[in-house]
Amino acid sequence: MKPQALIFAHSTDHLDALAAMSACTGQFESVLRCRNEQELMAALEEKGVDIIFSSARRDHEGDLLWLKDLSKRDAWKDIQVMVFTEEYDVDNRVAALELGADDALSFRVPRREIEARIRARLKTRTSLRNLRKARADLARMALTDSLTGLCNRAFFDVTLESEAARSTRTDTPFSLLLIDVDHFKWINDTYGHQLGDTVLQAIARVLRQTVRKSDMAFRYGGEEFALVLPDTPIPSARILAERVHGEIAELARSYSHFRQPLTVSVGISCASGDLRDPHLLIEQADCALYAAKRNGRNRTEIFHLDSREDFSRATEKGLPLDAPTTRMTS
Ligand code: GH3
Ligand code: MG
Ligand code: MG
Repeated sequence: MKPQALIFAHSTDHLDALAAMSACTGQFESVLRCRNEQELMAALEEKGVDIIFSSARRDHEGDLLWLKDLSKRDAWKDIQVMVFTEEYDVDNRVAALELGADDALSFRVPRREIEARIRARLKTRTSLRNLRKARADLARMALTDSLTGLCNRAFFDVTLESEAARSTRTDTPFSLLLIDVDHFKWINDTYGHQLGDTVLQAIARVLRQTVRKSDMAFRYGGEEFALVLPDTPIPSARILAERVHGEIAELARSYSHFRQPLTVSVGISCASGDLRDPHLLIEQADCALYAAKRNGRNRTEIFHLDSREDFSRATEKGLPLDAPTTRMTS
């Protein structure tokens, strides 16, 4: 698509001169015309402008003040600006450059040179746009898990911090679910790492589809996932966990040839009252998850102090996760 140009001048003479100049280059999709700052701002709001040709009248310092507004919006910062002045009006050319214009020229500069300078500006505009897109892609990639497309652990950490702060401010509870695939090592060992990866992708899809729009799903690590549920007390979190078990059971039908059915275990912790520390929440959800494993897997446990005891006693004794337990933690 061809670039979009805009001309802005306070006088009709300058407006006509800029229009003639921009038209003769033949580079542009169309040329928008603005006669005052209000029209200029409205055009910038509504249209995707690539380059602005403007002018300043001699002894009218105010003509250039609009240049300051371009730094107000990220989307406007890369717009290329060329300011034209009368031949001897060096002051305004200097002022234009100081206020952020990308080029400042006399109207008398030969047409060929102006055209070359316009081409240079458009090149810069394209490189800046590509750079910005690459930066946005990189930022997105840094927060996304490449295997499953879910948000990654780094994003989880940031989210949990900000959710804890938000829930303190609004005095609302929020829940954390840690979800671990049962006997996943066995799936890998029996059917290969590649099928293991496919299973993880399928589980990620299920989680993404099961949660509400306001909830967030993450790949916490390896074969573990996390759900952060804003404004959600424990009973609602438990209902969601049961839905997750149901959807995973549905997914397991695609893997009915597995000797061991595909299931997950879930640990839930909830932030409310004085308990909103992200590290503590993770630790508590982890304890509950551990209890779910010990209690037979394919189940959800909710953190309470007993599950912490369970956890520390087992780790002290070096008990395997499969060791049977008589303690129910939910
Ligand atoms: P448990 O029911 O106690 O959770 O048993 P488990 O076998 O799921 O747990 P364990 O921690 O022993 O094994 C987890 C396995 O997950 C081991 C590791 O190789 C595998 N894993 C971690 N990340 C990936 C991955 O990205 N792709 C695949 N295919 N496997 C992964
Ligand atoms: Mg695990
Ligand atoms: Mg596991």
